Amino acid sequence: MEKIKRLVNCVIPITVCNFKCHYCYLAQTNSFDKNIPQLKYDLDIIKKALTKERLGGTCLINLCAVGETLMAPYLFKLTKDMLDNGHYVAIVTNGSLTNKIKDYCELSKSEKNRLFFKFSYQFMELKRLNLLQTFFDNVKMVRDAGISYTVELTVNDESIPFIDEINETCLKNVGAYPHVIESRDNNDGYKKLTKLPNDKHMKAWSKMASPILTFQDKLWLKKRKEFCYAGDWVLNLYLENGNLTPCFAGGPVIQNIFENIDEPIHFEAIGNKCPWEHCFACHVLLTLGAIPQLDTPKYSEIRNRKTKDNKEWLTKDMKSFMSSKFIESNLEYSQNKKEVINWYRDIELNGKECESNEFAKALDETLKARNIKSVGIYENEKYEKSLINGLLRTSIKVKYIISPNYKEYNNIKHYIIHQLKYVIKKRIRKEKVPILNYYDRLPNVDAIIVTDITNFDRIKKEVKEKIHKEAILITEIER
Ligand code: SF4
Ligand code: SF4
Repeated sequence: MEKIKRLVNCVIPITVCNFKCHYCYLAQTNSFDKNIPQLKYDLDIIKKALTKERLGGTCLINLCAVGETLMAPYLFKLTKDMLDNGHYVAIVTNGSLTNKIKDYCELSKSEKNRLFFKFSYQFMELKRLNLLQTFFDNVKMVRDAGISYTVELTVNDESIPFIDEINETCLKNVGAYPHVIESRDNNDGYKKLTKLPNDKHMKAWSKMASPILTFQDKLWLKKRKEFCYAGDWVLNLYLENGNLTPCFAGGPVIQNIFENIDEPIHFEAIGNKCPWEHCFACHVLLTLGAIPQLDTPKYSEIRNRKTKDNKEWLTKDMKSFMSSKFIESNLEYSQNKKEVINWYRDIELNGKECESNEFAKALDETLKARNIKSVGIYENEKYEKSLINGLLRTSIKVKYIISPNYKEYNNIKHYIIHQLKYVIKKRIRKEKVPILNYYDRLPNVDAIIVTDITNFDRIKKEVKEKIHKEAILITEIER
């Protein structure tokens, strides 16, 4: 049975929906829009960018729009492409678009085994629009086609008086109570979106007996400080432009992974520096094991439901896949790699320049293991001072900072300056680490260290072309 390598959340760039739920994140920020933006890259490029080989193994690809996912005109082709690539696919939908859902029921058995529909059970809207029966007919169509599913309601105070009706309707149609998931206030530190005290809120919703809600409640507003592998084992991908960020919550761009699909992806964990108030998607990310040391239920255990006729919402294959954890197909980072990642993320996310001995030791050991004894640094104001301070406490020689920003003047005067600059800066001006450019006579080094992860592929080529040196990304200095 296959094990999960990574979870890739594909953010589908549409903010259109045929519902208007009052607790919707679009309503909170008043961002309902009628436009469906064009994707910047062809679906064929996207398919090639997300192969098993490039992602390192079989992934769970979550397709979720900020509006109604199935309204994206390319969603069926995208789903099929990801299934063709050998991945498992989850689609989040409000379950109202029968004709669209029908298409997925026509897929092959092997494809349907790896497909999962997360039906958002928007009870109040379904009633208002008289679509409750359509919704459950669609859930049953998916179930009868042999596709995994779940029915899940987003908690909201207004629905509390209807909880019994909500439960009974779901039980009657699909043999079990729905799951419930917290709604969060995106304008107020991701607090729970309720006016009730937490005990009353939890008591009201406990009637659903949903382990998702209980698990979320246990971890809600608890800041995570452990080493988290989001950014490596968990990825957030903006389908509109190919930008990859570390977590469902977003974060700084790691790389545009559609731009050059032959380049490897530079996975980079968040480490101990999670910047968010709490892990609001913990029921997915932490149950799949983004923080391997946390003892959690399996994702399948909190997603699945047994029905009254002893069937299950998840198919055998999907249940087995969702029972696996990242650690079963990934290696944890070494202590040295963790030190470097934490150093990088601290500057990036908190502006803190940690200059610990452990960081210097990690640089020393990892570079020596690669037989690198002297380096140049590719200019990057944000990181270079701290990196040089670390390197100066090792046995590695830091000879120069290379700056790409120089316009060449082709004359004898500049030729002489280029020839002498290093010697003058080092010997006469006593600069510890002089800034040089590609036209200067450069002292020999074993490698150039680069700290700009987003532009690394371009910089690597530039360094190779201009000075015939190997460029190493700081977050990948350990092989
Ligand atoms: S169905 Fe989903 S996207 Fe549409 S309004 Fe409701 S919560 Fe928002
Ligand atoms: S702890 Fe949760 S919110 Fe923070 S980076 Fe990890 S997965 Fe994301």
